[in-house]
Amino acid sequence: MTSGSTLQRVAVFGATGSIGASALDVIARHPQRLQASVLAAGSQVDALLDLCRRHRPRHAVIAREELYPALRDGLRARGLDTRAHAGMAALDQLASGDACDTVVAAIVGAAGLSSTLAAARAGKRLLLANKESLVLAGELMTRAADAAGADIIPIDSEHNAIFQCLRSRQAKDDVRRIVLTASGGPFRGRRRADLADVTPEQAVAHPKWSMGPKISVDSATLMNKGLELIEAHHLFALSGERLGVLVHPQSLVHSLVEFVDGSTLAQLGLPDMRTALAVGLGWPDRIDSGVAGLDLLAQGRLDFEAPDTDAFPCLRLACEALDTGGTAPAILNAANEVAVSAFLQGKIRFLSIPALVEDALAALPAAPADSLEALLEADARARRITETTIAGRAARA
Ligand code: NAD
Ligand code: MG
Repeated sequence: MTSGSTLQRVAVFGATGSIGASALDVIARHPQRLQASVLAAGSQVDALLDLCRRHRPRHAVIAREELYPALRDGLRARGLDTRAHAGMAALDQLASGDACDTVVAAIVGAAGLSSTLAAARAGKRLLLANKESLVLAGELMTRAADAAGADIIPIDSEHNAIFQCLRSRQAKDDVRRIVLTASGGPFRGRRRADLADVTPEQAVAHPKWSMGPKISVDSATLMNKGLELIEAHHLFALSGERLGVLVHPQSLVHSLVEFVDGSTLAQLGLPDMRTALAVGLGWPDRIDSGVAGLDLLAQGRLDFEAPDTDAFPCLRLACEALDTGGTAPAILNAANEVAVSAFLQGKIRFLSIPALVEDALAALPAAPADSLEALLEADARARRITETTIAGRAARA
């Protein structure tokens, strides 16, 4: 649905999160063109009810089943005719059913895989922020989308930048390489020894982007850039050798595409995800996002440096998992999700995150990733092994 005259019904999955808020902000600017028809969240009923009052969706979903009565009663108490749903199966049904044309996939982590895949299989326009689902099952996802004619528009600033430069998800032979930019996170410039005692509060305090806690920690370890390399490999069908990373602390150049003739195209803009979401919601038109233009004179300078994989080994581990292929990226992603969650809860230290991911990759040999079952099995085994290691360390401490 691209015409400005037709109402595009948008399901926002992860509506109560950071990407969800940015998506709803852009949608609310275009009432003639865009309508939030489904809103879904994990467990924050009150925040979801507030969003329902503001955006009047036809359906609201809470993933945790036991919260269904709270959602239903809350909608009733507010006099809203939004229908209440609960559970992961309801998410899949609403992602693929006729209540929406477009799905903003902004659930965090592998928990977003099922609904994202359901939207792809149903041929929806898929605004894909949930990078973990691509890392876990990128081939299945892109194959399902292609088979069903689903347009995937990446909602990760780097991949959205590349998409804008290519005006497509198809990197043809005329693309020599793609370079993802990285802010470097809150600990840029520190050596490994200086990272031993950093706290979750310091790790989530990102210098340039305001994001949810999981991706903020991933940015601090540089795992985020590693996941993004795997994401780019799937989205643009490019091998690891044609993908690079450049640290760019100002976060104004969002990524670069180098062509065979020596031209490099880049997309620049303020670090605000509403730009990427407006690209996805309006495509192929450009629509207002609420984001100001870029004043390079005021910004002053653009700096670039190489990433430090000694201090931030997660980037190296992700590159190796990309090269290994098969279930290796699924193992990397699952171990990282468990480790980041433990770090945020104060159970492990910052440098244990790469150590746990490396241990999981060493303990579980990669197998071919030829089915969803094989990938989910690898994901589950990596979670178990990482949880067991964390519990063992806590018992010894
Ligand atoms: P967030 O933590 O702010 O929000 C996560 C959302 O997911 C919430 O609405 C939460 O209710 C929902 N959720 C969590 N577990 C769920 C479950 N089991 N079932 C259903 N819903 C569940 O996270 P975020 O920063 O908005 O990131 C969302 C996704 O977008 C992540 O995959 C992240 O990597 C990606 N992303 C985010 C940004 C950003 O700027 N925030 C940029 C690029 C990519
Ligand atoms: Mg990104």
